Amino acid sequence: MRVHHLNCGSMCPRGGRLAGGKGLPWAIAPMCCHCLLIEAEDGLVLVDTGLGVEDLADPKRLGLLFRALTRPRLEMAETALRQVADLGFRIDDVRHIVSTHLDLDHAGGLTDFPAATVHVHAAELSAAKQPTWRERARYRRAQLEAVRRWDAIEVGGDRWFGFMSVRALSGTRDDVLLIPLAGHTRGHCGVAVRIASGWLLHCGDAYFHHSEVAPKGGRAPAGIRAFEWLADIDRAARLMNQKRLTELALKHGHEVRLVSSHDPAELAACRA
Ligand SMILES: [Zn+2]
Repeated sequence: MRVHHLNCGSMCPRGGRLAGGKGLPWAIAPMCCHCLLIEAEDGLVLVDTGLGVEDLADPKRLGLLFRALTRPRLEMAETALRQVADLGFRIDDVRHIVSTHLDLDHAGGLTDFPAATVHVHAAELSAAKQPTWRERARYRRAQLEAVRRWDAIEVGGDRWFGFMSVRALSGTRDDVLLIPLAGHTRGHCGVAVRIASGWLLHCGDAYFHHSEVAPKGGRAPAGIRAFEWLADIDRAARLMNQKRLTELALKHGHEVRLVSSHDPAELAACRA
């Protein structure tokens, strides 16, 4: 299956080297919203949607805190909608969207594809629909309430490299799998996509910086670690899953390529 690597939302937080960029803490440390567009047998599949057209039209949809911290560029050319069109596809060709989770920087474009079914872990959909007070700021009702077709996926299925796996989609011949990686949110998942060289595992926000899953072991810059700590819903699960991903990269790095949502270095490497 052909996979396109899209950046559906450039963000310009400050933090310099502490946030994975360069220089002093007030320097910009660029971040992206790495999404996948898969040309599957049954039409196009999007993995995450980044920021959407409605977010650009009304940035208040994203909330003040998110905008102040991440300083998104909000460029129409970066929306998944525009990039799908620029690649020569019709919007209705996007038949399926698989969401790693429903945080506002991943779910903004859901409503730009009204013909698509949105596949998401049942625990994540339940968190987004009935958030606790801690979860309330991360899920934006305006992004989610207009989705026409949800497919809430329950845990089950076969194992995949030792991870519990859930067959995500019909029409992809088991080539797109949902892999529960809870911690950042209640129902956070990775999405495994079969490619010519083996598998591509989009890990969403299970980690934020490539050093965290480096086979030789590494630590993310301090600012990123602090953010992960502040944002996680289940710390023990997040840390356990990061450890398992590092082991996966160590043992099976030749057949499974790991990427995450916000690391521009990984995005550049995938595009190269
Ligand atoms: Zn995110």
